Amino acid sequence: MSENVHVDEMFGKNVFTVGKMKERIPKKVFQEVLRVMETGGELSLATADVVANAMKEWAIENGATHYTHWFQPLTGITAEKHDAFVTNPDDEGHMILEFRGKELIKGEPDASSFPSGGLRSTFEARGYTAWDCTSPAFLKESAAGTILCIPTAFCSYKGEALDKKTPLLRSMEAVSEQALRIVRIFGNTEATKVAASVGPEQEYFLVDRSNYLKREDLKVAGRTLFGSAAPKGQEMEDHYFGVIRERVGAFMKDLNEELWKLGVTAKTQHNEVAPAQHELAPIFDYANIAVDRNQIVMETMKRVAEKHDLACLLHEKPYAGVNGSGKHNNWSLSTDNGVNLLDPGDTPNENIQFLLVLACIVKAVDTHADLLRQSASDVGNDHRLGANEAPPAIISIFLGEQLEDVVEQLIATGEATSSIAGKKLKTGVSTLPDFVKDATDRNRTSPFAFTGNKFEFRMVGSADSIASPNTTLNTIVAEAFCEAADRIEKAADKQLEIHDVIKEFLTDHQRVIFNGDGYSDEWVAEAERRGLPNIKSMVEATETLTTDKAVKLFEKFKVFTKAELESREDILYETYSKTINIEALTMIDMAAKQIVPAVSKYTKTLADTVIAVKNAGANPEATESVLNETVAYLNDVKRALDNLVKVQAEAHAIEDHKKQAYFYKDEVKDAMDALRAPADKLEMLVDKEMWPFPTYGDLMFEV
Ligand code: ADP
Ligand code: MG
Repeated sequence: MSENVHVDEMFGKNVFTVGKMKERIPKKVFQEVLRVMETGGELSLATADVVANAMKEWAIENGATHYTHWFQPLTGITAEKHDAFVTNPDDEGHMILEFRGKELIKGEPDASSFPSGGLRSTFEARGYTAWDCTSPAFLKESAAGTILCIPTAFCSYKGEALDKKTPLLRSMEAVSEQALRIVRIFGNTEATKVAASVGPEQEYFLVDRSNYLKREDLKVAGRTLFGSAAPKGQEMEDHYFGVIRERVGAFMKDLNEELWKLGVTAKTQHNEVAPAQHELAPIFDYANIAVDRNQIVMETMKRVAEKHDLACLLHEKPYAGVNGSGKHNNWSLSTDNGVNLLDPGDTPNENIQFLLVLACIVKAVDTHADLLRQSASDVGNDHRLGANEAPPAIISIFLGEQLEDVVEQLIATGEATSSIAGKKLKTGVSTLPDFVKDATDRNRTSPFAFTGNKFEFRMVGSADSIASPNTTLNTIVAEAFCEAADRIEKAADKQLEIHDVIKEFLTDHQRVIFNGDGYSDEWVAEAERRGLPNIKSMVEATETLTTDKAVKLFEKFKVFTKAELESREDILYETYSKTINIEALTMIDMAAKQIVPAVSKYTKTLADTVIAVKNAGANPEATESVLNETVAYLNDVKRALDNLVKVQAEAHAIEDHKKQAYFYKDEVKDAMDALRAPADKLEMLVDKEMWPFPTYGDLMFEV
């Protein structure tokens, strides 16, 4: 009970909520802000001044000294440049704290070193940040002090998007506009917009900080580049589980409290898939807010972990041979008068609307499977997608037994008159069962699963921003809605046309529906027969951004211009190359400065032992055999190391970004694997005391 009161007080404490704004500014001004928040447009400078002042006073009351335009450049993380509220002291030496409207709504960070993919030439290095007033400002408490963070979009001088937020906001407007046409067809005249809602489930690993600091790969690359599997055995996990719970529990409590203060509704849970792996899911929100909050969640996890002498690993694959981390992106669409378009509902009218919406989503996902897969790709996620791990790189939709049955009936006869549960709902056009929620989440191997009243896109990487997946989802669905609405709006017999559209969309795109085991080899073969794309890596996925199909789609809905897509493609190639390059250099460093010296010392110990044993007249057979094996692997390591040095230099010299990315993927990664293999063998042979860094066993079980 007392704890609840505590949570109440804490929740949103560090957020400048609409409620707080309302309390602090005159009613008329507040109404103007609210109008802009709801219907878009620009705040007048006079209004912005009032809001900025109220925001500043609130921030200063709560200890803030600086403000920042918090934005999401194409690096995938967030960026901020702190400006102090202080200005010149007045005549009497009093500090004046100032924050004006124009500083609230627009910023001009020195942006020349953020990636722009050629959109911004060096002589025109300016970038502008603009307040996204629909996402509330918040206070970040850190060692740097308390900072007022203003969520912003980041654009070039000519208005081209240089961030992940701008296209997301554009896509939300696009899907809202088209979805409104759909609900209007079904007589909903009240709704004024349709919002994309998102609830991301965040997976992460925790590792002891002192162990983390001893591993250059974890510090630099966020994942282990060397390491043999820990000794297997359930007993071992059980043994350590008690310890994990203690420490992780304290971390989670602290994390929850920090997140609640920032208005993030967090519910944490243990994840039993891998040792020291956990998950946090917040309650869903508007897509742009969910994107901001997910960034806050990731930042806060890292910060709080440090306080607990832990390190939080957000990488998709920190450990080879152990389950990786993803981010289940739960996505839905709801009108502002309370209708979830993905809720099957129980009135016949809404059911037909639901069927049309479903048919549109099936069409969208099939038509743009390549783009959806691209939207979930990042360098780390290449270790999950298509790498024989959850989920596969092939996009398919899981509908569940009942819904798939309805779809099959619709395709076969144009009407669905029964459902597996035996429930009938005569709608006049088609029938639909009352979907039972628990029938939805049985397939964990599907990358895109219907889960009751939303779709769960499970491909997204744990370290990645969720902006791209949601931008793509919103846009591809907007296109399908648009096509359906174009046809239905001008049809003489609308009911018949709705019926035809549903049947046609489902028939033409049923190949993307798959309810079986997405991890099986049979599915890979079956998907190929069905003609579904199986894009194996981020590099190949990147090309899909600039196909004619993609350009047409994104330009039509004003989400990306062709130039913006080209710039993004270029940045992604560069990001890929840079990331693999860092990994390669880290491996070279660890192998040359840690592994080779340590193993050389060990071979000397072994050799000395062999001689001593021989001199003593005993048989040194065992030691000799270990020595021979160790030396053989050490020689392999050295050869592979020399080769990696050579290949890395070759890769680094390539100028064309696309060619370079392919070279890193095809050549450098192989050279890295070739170095890792003998090194991991050595780890199993070398005296634990002499191995130069903590092993998988230490990392995973000493938490
Ligand atoms: P489960 O735990 O069975 O996967 P939950 O209902 O707990 O399912 O949902 C998981 C995530 O989906 C949570 O973040 C939740 O807030 C989110 N979610 C629920 N409904 C919606 C919705 N309509 N739109 C977007 N996300 C949603
Ligand atoms: Mg889930």
